[in-house]
Amino acid sequence: MSKIKVLPQSLRDKIAAGEVIERPASVVKELIENSIDAESTTILIEVLYGGKRLIRVSDNGIGMDKEDALLCFERYATSKILNEEDLFNIKTMGFRGEALSSIAAVAKIKLTTASKGSNQGVLIEIHGGEIKTIKDLSSIGTTVEVKDIFYNMPARRKFLRTDSTELLHIIDTVSEEALSHHEIGFTLSSDNHETLSIPPSSCSRERIMQLYGSEFLDSLTEINIKTKEMSLNSFITKGEYFRNSKSHQFIFINRRPVRDFLITHAVYKAYEGILPSKKHPVFFLFFNINPQYIDLNVHPTKHEVRFKDKEYVYHFVYSSIRESLTKYKHPISFTSSMPSAISENVEFEYEPSFSFIYLGDTFIALTDKGGLTLLDQHAAHERILYEKFLRGLDINSNRLLFPKQVRLSHKEYITILENRIILKDFGIDVEDFGYDTLLIRSFPHFLTNADISGILSDIASIILNGELTKEGFKKTVAAKIACHHSIRGSIKLSPEEINHLLSDLSNCKNPDTCPHGRPTKISFSLEDVKRMFKKR
Ligand code: ADP
Ligand code: MG
Repeated sequence: MSKIKVLPQSLRDKIAAGEVIERPASVVKELIENSIDAESTTILIEVLYGGKRLIRVSDNGIGMDKEDALLCFERYATSKILNEEDLFNIKTMGFRGEALSSIAAVAKIKLTTASKGSNQGVLIEIHGGEIKTIKDLSSIGTTVEVKDIFYNMPARRKFLRTDSTELLHIIDTVSEEALSHHEIGFTLSSDNHETLSIPPSSCSRERIMQLYGSEFLDSLTEINIKTKEMSLNSFITKGEYFRNSKSHQFIFINRRPVRDFLITHAVYKAYEGILPSKKHPVFFLFFNINPQYIDLNVHPTKHEVRFKDKEYVYHFVYSSIRESLTKYKHPISFTSSMPSAISENVEFEYEPSFSFIYLGDTFIALTDKGGLTLLDQHAAHERILYEKFLRGLDINSNRLLFPKQVRLSHKEYITILENRIILKDFGIDVEDFGYDTLLIRSFPHFLTNADISGILSDIASIILNGELTKEGFKKTVAAKIACHHSIRGSIKLSPEEINHLLSDLSNCKNPDTCPHGRPTKISFSLEDVKRMFKKR
């Protein structure tokens, strides 16, 4: 029996209109969400050439009968809402009946489907919105094949990025849907190679582990909070495992991946005083909110929601995370191997009498030839390490007896593999170990205690964020590695270590600024001080 109805005009007018299909990943998202709404337990996604040539999504869900299969390509044809009230009580991923019609208008579609329990299925082909074939065919579940996206819109096709960039967007989309639907098994294959294979799992925790590995999961703490209006199951950075980029921050509201400035702000606020400057927490927040408290009909791609009571949500997120963080009493992060990096210089001369005081955590005030120098120990150490990296000579790379396995997100994993030749210049030798895992064969000995997966993940985001020249790339990577490894505020150095730091700094080509351009030290000569006091 058919289920799909075309929405009346009065309801269409209330639906957020706009472009749904921007790129192959948008097609993947819409098709996966349809399979989810069809109660599928396994979803297979196959793509060719970053989805530009082909996207095929097959599921084992409830399917459609022939009448619905013909109707589903109509604009505003949906089985998910009937009236305006439903618009404020949405429990499905889709509800506007726009996706299939939008895809059919810009690509060549082949749909094969059969209603569950019936062996009579149908095959329909539509090119650019026009029906080409209708055939009876037995089938299980639904398969939608989308070929040659934007074939009839050359201007839009031209704006698509390279196959590998489009594939990365698809991987992001599949990972997001997989994170919010842990009970469903997902397989993604690209150009006939299996790229992701995620069996059904019992909870979000297990799903995060399937996607990112157990080491990553160990760096997170789980918090569960429930009130009458909403519940939150979250996994957030604990201890010192902060990142240099925002690459692992996810918010799901009623299983829908969303971006939300308010919630993100509340998380950062909860980390106030704990998060070192320029660092970012990892977070996966799974909210379950009574649908009547939110409006999903805000944005055509459904990436945004509107809350009835913003302040409540903000406070809920802030207080639940803050409470858990302060309970754990996080140490401020720093790298424990710092002193060895400083005491390498054998020419160091011991200077016992040395006047200095710490101003706050990272600034050291020292007297110097009758004047005053303010030193930022973190910035200074960053500069020293940065130049060491760029010289390359001091990268004493050790071949490891027992190679280290590092599991990354799939996107990071391919990015690092594709750029491993450049990483070799930094003494990092990686090999493919399959299943998003890299084998680290060798890496610089001073990175022994560093968070190597954090470093690799940051390097991947640099590569993904822009098209840097090799030289620019090297500089950025060197700065990132230096920053990861340099002394954090809150470590108090001994006079010998400060002296050593100063001598290493004076040997730098550009001792006055850190790799990001901030000053390492500011000096006032006795003359300057006199001038400031208007004494000449
Ligand atoms: P929406 O999901 O907003 O309802 P779509 O254009 O994505 O709109 O889909 C239209 C209708 O087609 C859906 O409401 C659903 O009834 C049907 N449909 C689409 N994909 C599937 C699928 N994989 N399995 C079963 N039914 C589907
Ligand atoms: Mg849909």
